[in-house]
Amino acid sequence: MEQPRRHVIVAGGGPAAVETILALQALSGQRLEVELLAPNAELALAPYEVMAPFREGHERRYPLTRIASDAGAGLVADSISGVDPERHVVITRSGAERSYDTLVVAVGARRVDTVAGAHPFRGARDAGRLKTLLAESDSGRHVRVAFVVPAGVTWPLPLYELALHTAAWLSERGIGPVPLTFVSPESDPLAVFGRSVSEEVASLLEQHGVTFLRAHPVRLHERRLLLMGGDELEVDVAFAVPRLEGPRIAGLPCDEDGFLPIDEFGRVRGAADVFAAGDAADFPVKQGGLAAQQADVIAQRISADAGADVESSPFSPVLRARLFAGREQRYLHRELEDEREHASIASADALWSPPYKLAGQYIAPYLTRLDEERAGDPGPSGDRAGQ
Ligand SMILES: Cc1cc2nc3c(=O)[nH]c(=O)nc-3n(C[C@H](O)[C@H](O)[C@H](O)COP(=O)(O)OP(=O)(O)OC[C@H]3O[C@@H](n4cnc5c(N)ncnc54)[C@H](O)[C@@H]3O)c2cc1C
Repeated sequence: MEQPRRHVIVAGGGPAAVETILALQALSGQRLEVELLAPNAELALAPYEVMAPFREGHERRYPLTRIASDAGAGLVADSISGVDPERHVVITRSGAERSYDTLVVAVGARRVDTVAGAHPFRGARDAGRLKTLLAESDSGRHVRVAFVVPAGVTWPLPLYELALHTAAWLSERGIGPVPLTFVSPESDPLAVFGRSVSEEVASLLEQHGVTFLRAHPVRLHERRLLLMGGDELEVDVAFAVPRLEGPRIAGLPCDEDGFLPIDEFGRVRGAADVFAAGDAADFPVKQGGLAAQQADVIAQRISADAGADVESSPFSPVLRARLFAGREQRYLHRELEDEREHASIASADALWSPPYKLAGQYIAPYLTRLDEERAGDPGPSGDRAGQ
């Protein structure tokens, strides 16, 4: 007799959730009934939003109805507010209960307070303040700008891009000198990517006239950026990426910062048949490419458990980022578990294919195809930094 298909709920509407449903479709061989539970109508890709202050039309948004349908998944417009792991039931914000055999939580992180007095930079919606500032500089009022990374869990990469783009934008217009300082508790620029990448990013900052200052920024007050230890930096305006906390979902375990504790297969510790991927999980580095790798590990595990002939490998994190730096770009790569120096690579040439900014086995080729379809263009030419 044919087994009933296992019901998988994937909660979330970002890169981790989308990679999960695409990977499940590719790997499970129709053994699963998959449902995407997301409050948003579109997948909005933050990695491309860093261009928003400089150029219109660089945002990447894709309808979830189309994505779910292409992935053979159902779509429910709601959000998860709690879970009863004993009963295998999700409680949604609208008050409904939905049963699952397997649950994947991919709801992202919560963006919390950043450096007090600094303007938050979370993507396109915060582009307005920087645009105003750039317009002021264009009209001759030069201000001292700091780009600050808070202590704790955060996304430093877009702030480096913002600083480098700002420098390139000012220089192309002959505006300046505008003192730009990058303040970060990191030991070196983008230190998590290893030595070669750090040296390359340090050199890019230098070439663009951005000073790197290793310090813990505390707050901006009366045009002074206070640094831990008592030092101060005179600046007129500061931009900061938010600090991140986990989603704290009622009924599920979490660490002290609210992140879901996972094992090497993405299973939430202490909650049977529940997995977590992406920024919501307790892996300390938050990155879209890592979210996609976690989603793949989970999809392999679920598909293998459902009887598909799939090898299920544990999470072995590889950082991949495409850094937009004014008119230039760098592909950055590091195998996090490999301490050797060659594991850290920075290259002007693509290190993965397709060279989508969010590296992911299924999501990158899929979204590249949607872009090509939209543009009526067979090549990835619209995906160049600074164009
Ligand atoms: C400006 C910026 C630039 C970045 N650049 C890069 C880059 O170049 N490369 C890179 O790899 N990473 C980059 N990142 C980081 C990357 O965007 C994140 O790591 C990635 O989006 C995490 O994916 P996620 O699906 O886990 O979470 P999210 O992208 O946060 O998605 C979470 C989704 O879950 C939905 N959701 C929220 N609550 C619920 C709920 N209760 N129930 C159901 N759904 C819910 C949300 O609506 C959202 O759709 C950047 C981030 C920012 C802000």
